[in-house]
Amino acid sequence: MLRQLRPQSAFSTQSPSRLIAIATRESSRLYSIKAESASTIKPQDIDPSKLTITKTTTPKELVPPNELVFGRTFTDHMLSLEWTAAKGWLPARITPYQNLSLDPASSVFHYAFTCFEGMKAYKDANGQIRLFRPNKNMARLNKSSARICLPTFDGASLIELISKFVQTEERFIPSTKGYSLYLRPTMIGTQRTLGVGPPGSALLFVIASPVGPYYPTGFKAVSLEATDYAVRAWPGGTGDMKLGANYAPCILPQIQAAKRGFHQNLWLFGEEEYVTEVGTMNMFVAIKNKETGQKELITAPLDGTILEGVTRDSILGLAHEKLVPEGWKIIERKYTMKELSEASKEGRLIEAFGAGTAAIVSPVRNISWKGELVDCGLRPEIEAGEIALRMKEWIEAIQYGDEEHEWSYVVPKLA
Ligand SMILES: *Cc1c(COP(=O)(O)O)cnc(C)c1O
Repeated sequence: MLRQLRPQSAFSTQSPSRLIAIATRESSRLYSIKAESASTIKPQDIDPSKLTITKTTTPKELVPPNELVFGRTFTDHMLSLEWTAAKGWLPARITPYQNLSLDPASSVFHYAFTCFEGMKAYKDANGQIRLFRPNKNMARLNKSSARICLPTFDGASLIELISKFVQTEERFIPSTKGYSLYLRPTMIGTQRTLGVGPPGSALLFVIASPVGPYYPTGFKAVSLEATDYAVRAWPGGTGDMKLGANYAPCILPQIQAAKRGFHQNLWLFGEEEYVTEVGTMNMFVAIKNKETGQKELITAPLDGTILEGVTRDSILGLAHEKLVPEGWKIIERKYTMKELSEASKEGRLIEAFGAGTAAIVSPVRNISWKGELVDCGLRPEIEAGEIALRMKEWIEAIQYGDEEHEWSYVVPKLA
């Protein structure tokens, strides 16, 4: 059972020693704290009706779709909202894409008061713009910001503003399937002080980058290095949130793995060598049960060390709906590298893949672990397993509106 510590607010009256006392009394490890944000005293939530739009006078030239590189080029405009502890959320603005001007003492530069989201806008066959489960991204951004004492906000209001923003940038969204507009909502602490404390001011901005398919020429299965000398996330840590602070420390191990010829790190945790995530994706494995021969789709549980991927959740939902009737069992449980190696040797490892917004799924060919190369079940001539292929199809059908589904949000046209 997970126990969650719930301070009343970021300015909790509970002293740290008292919190420890509570923890000890309950004699359980704390895996995750559910913080409330610095904006508990909420003078003004986001008011989308106050949006102002200033259009650029120098529109950019569109990059040909086949030349798009992930996160390299941005659209004409950006959406920004300032927050102060005294006034709450100030009116949102869509302005030309521009540099920020921040005091060098701003808390974001010193203590990593920054969190972000990754989501996409898609164009359907009728030219309508769609978002995929944007409420999930809003909930997650609120969870991330609250944890680092940045303000929270009404998710529906930000979706309304993002909708206006993506409509403004409509010409940047390619119509071709596989293409989309990657959206990067970001929140930073802007208070000018070196004092370590909750920021009294913040900036929320959203920028957008047109992107092509992750695998332009079809799937390419990756090789992973099981990483045990560096840890991505730990119980009681912040690995279940998209905080900027979680990502910079993962680049060096990634470079080291790349030097040894591997595409990504497979992040392990603990003496048991639990498999947690792959790079910045959630990890799924399909295995035949050793005792029963039952086919199982397994992913690690949300125990505080795993990022709550929207793709992960969608795959689990679709698996319950479509794979269970075919005889699959869908399981969220801890599993170890040793289990994978054993299943592989016994021919029971059917396939493995990463899951995240950028690629939807990313098939895994093998995993280097303790001098062994664990084969993940793909025949040499194929680049993706059945489940990965089908999941990508199912999810894309919803994202691009080929299949009407409650997960797809049609962006209203600008009035
Ligand atoms: C963003 C992210 C994911 C994937 O989340 P999605 O919502 O599916 O894009 C998985 N793991 C980590 C560490 C991430 O940062």
